[in-house]
Amino acid sequence: MSHSFPLRGGRQNPFARRSFSAAWSSIESASNRLSFAFSLSSARRRRASDTSSPPMIWSSENLVLFISSVNLHGIRTLDGKAIALVGCGTLGSHLAKFLMQGGAGASAPLTLIDGQVLSAGNIGRHYLGHSRIGETKASALAEELKSFHPQCDIRATVGDALAQKTVLADANLLVDATGDWNTQYALNELFYEDGISADAILHCWISGNGAAVQAFLNVRGDECCFRCLRPSMDAGPRFPALKPGVEANMAPATCGDGNYIPYSVAAPATAAGLACDMAIGWANDKPGARLRTIVLDHERGIERKPTSPSAHKTCPSCLSRDRS
Ligand SMILES: [Zn+2]
Repeated sequence: MSHSFPLRGGRQNPFARRSFSAAWSSIESASNRLSFAFSLSSARRRRASDTSSPPMIWSSENLVLFISSVNLHGIRTLDGKAIALVGCGTLGSHLAKFLMQGGAGASAPLTLIDGQVLSAGNIGRHYLGHSRIGETKASALAEELKSFHPQCDIRATVGDALAQKTVLADANLLVDATGDWNTQYALNELFYEDGISADAILHCWISGNGAAVQAFLNVRGDECCFRCLRPSMDAGPRFPALKPGVEANMAPATCGDGNYIPYSVAAPATAAGLACDMAIGWANDKPGARLRTIVLDHERGIERKPTSPSAHKTCPSCLSRDRS
């Protein structure tokens, strides 16, 4: 297989050729392992002669390998990890897609939980678009993700996540993309309840009109819980992502929505990427630094090195567990 990319004047770029060939070699190597139901060579012939041919469909096993492994060489995907994602808003919608492309929903369910309906005001930064306005976010998102491949096991639960304990109980990983402190605290408490078997809970959120995004991974057995990051609402977070005095600005209601915090799609997409990367690290038993920050607006956000915070001695959640 020889591919090259022409430069201006008809010259060929040998580096591009080498790079593409290497990439193609990797894909072909993966494809050989996959034992496609239709071989690539026959598919190529068919594609060349018959443009009306149906798309190739791979078996469930091969779906896992093709969607995820081709791009995640040498590391484990999220295949086999039952994941419950709470919050299908701007952040959660992008994160759901990223997790699916990382292997979630391949041989264990990816469950999306949200009780809200998509409105016109959402689509400027949500993964879903105009055709889904008026539908429940969780259901519409699940349908959209299934369009990536019909064999993906993407499930939707419409309603309050905290009332869905049976759905959350068997997940290997709980993911909180609500961005709401009260819900985040409640999910932190739920993580420690009897009957919740998750190995970890991953929280991710956006700060200050998209000035920065953060994610916190709490692996079962860790000392620091999510509440340890902000033991007192009055005192503010221990590891703020915003410079002193910087606060989120609300925008007045539009399109039938309530007041909201404006920011571009870059913030939820960045937060989703960060959270997806941490989820894959967890799946590979390399969870790394538990709290990570990415700054998008350097005038308003604070650069922070990744860190694994210690538990806070005044954390109400940790203290209540110590007493029980
Ligand atoms: Zn704590």
